[in-house]
Amino acid sequence: MEKLIVNLSSKDRTVHSKAELDKKAKVRLYWFLEPGPNNTPLKWVPAADRGGFGEAGVMKFSMNTDSNGVCEHDDFRLSACGLDTFKVSVGSKKDGSDKKTNKEYEVWRRVYLSVRYMDSKFVMPLDPLHTEYRKHGIWPKEIPPGGGSAKVKYQEVITKDTEPDAMMQPVTEHKLEGRVLLVDRIWLASKREFTVQSNGRHIQFDVSPFVSDPQPGWMLWDHPQPGTCTAGGVGIGSYDVTQYMTRTGDLELTVKVPNGTPAATALDEAKARGKLSWTFKVWFIEILNGFAYEKDGTIVIANRTRGQAPRPLAPRQGTVIHEVGHGLGMVPAKIQEYNEFNGNPIKSGLKKNPTHYQNGGGHCKTAAGGSNPDYIDGTCVMFHYGHNSRTLQFCGSCAPIVKRRNLNRSSMKWP
Ligand SMILES: [Zn+2]
Ligand SMILES: [Zn+2]
Repeated sequence: MEKLIVNLSSKDRTVHSKAELDKKAKVRLYWFLEPGPNNTPLKWVPAADRGGFGEAGVMKFSMNTDSNGVCEHDDFRLSACGLDTFKVSVGSKKDGSDKKTNKEYEVWRRVYLSVRYMDSKFVMPLDPLHTEYRKHGIWPKEIPPGGGSAKVKYQEVITKDTEPDAMMQPVTEHKLEGRVLLVDRIWLASKREFTVQSNGRHIQFDVSPFVSDPQPGWMLWDHPQPGTCTAGGVGIGSYDVTQYMTRTGDLELTVKVPNGTPAATALDEAKARGKLSWTFKVWFIEILNGFAYEKDGTIVIANRTRGQAPRPLAPRQGTVIHEVGHGLGMVPAKIQEYNEFNGNPIKSGLKKNPTHYQNGGGHCKTAAGGSNPDYIDGTCVMFHYGHNSRTLQFCGSCAPIVKRRNLNRSSMKWP
């Protein structure tokens, strides 16, 4: 079985075939094509992605040898679907009764990965990625990142999703390169300002009502002083009380102005005249395991989330598999069915993908609890967040889609 990579150039699916008789004679030869039993069913494959002889993609055709008994042609085209196999045979009888196997082929698609990192400790083996993608006829290849050094300057926290752009390696393999950047932490930060009133100079409160557009998973910046605080009241100036502010919960702040300080004296004086007011300028964060831009082919993976210890290896590897999955167009909202005979799309055959949901991109809800779009703990690698039972594998619904996606360099979304 010859493994052929079909997606690097538009010529890759065309296979040169040759048969030679043991005598120098001009005779008619019959070529036959036998698709493998586990090939992607034709109802999922558009005409342009199918294997066959000639423009029409037929399973059989005939051609004369030259006077030396040689028959050569470029009429066989492989399909675009991973792990499809085709047996090409040739014989001198129209019914194929004397045909002999000429060659057998298996379809593979190439995807490249390059990695840059902030610290060599963040570099991880990508074996599970290779293992998983190979199951679907995708043969990933790790290449050195473009633009020189693989190491970029260390910074503890990425706070904006645009920050990694300047650190990212230039593209080496046009349209087929997933560019991975291994960073320490990704805490996407947003600043909020709000004012709270109180009767006394000790306050402790839940900040969630003061976030104008609360985001699930948002919390105060994980630092004892996640911003600044000033206090004031009727007839007094404004006092910086940041040093007395403490983050006492993910969404809770406490400010206790100690006795005997100038601020305490002024606030005690003002509270007799009316309420005290406290103005906070604090940072909220959304902690991410990683993120990717499908259109850029860029994948950013965090070494740590919140605690001091690095994330376990498997979930980090899972994040790379997940993000590359997005790059390959997973998870599509709809699935098109095609006419088995001519490969034209069936009008009524555009159906909802049963495991798809939209939550920061197309994801897969296989074996998840909860409800749309906040499903809980799905097991497919394309579930929208990482957790202990998210596998490193595409589920039974996603796997055949990955296998049959056309990954031609020219049609990929990456730059
Ligand atoms: Zn995702
Ligand atoms: Zn899935």
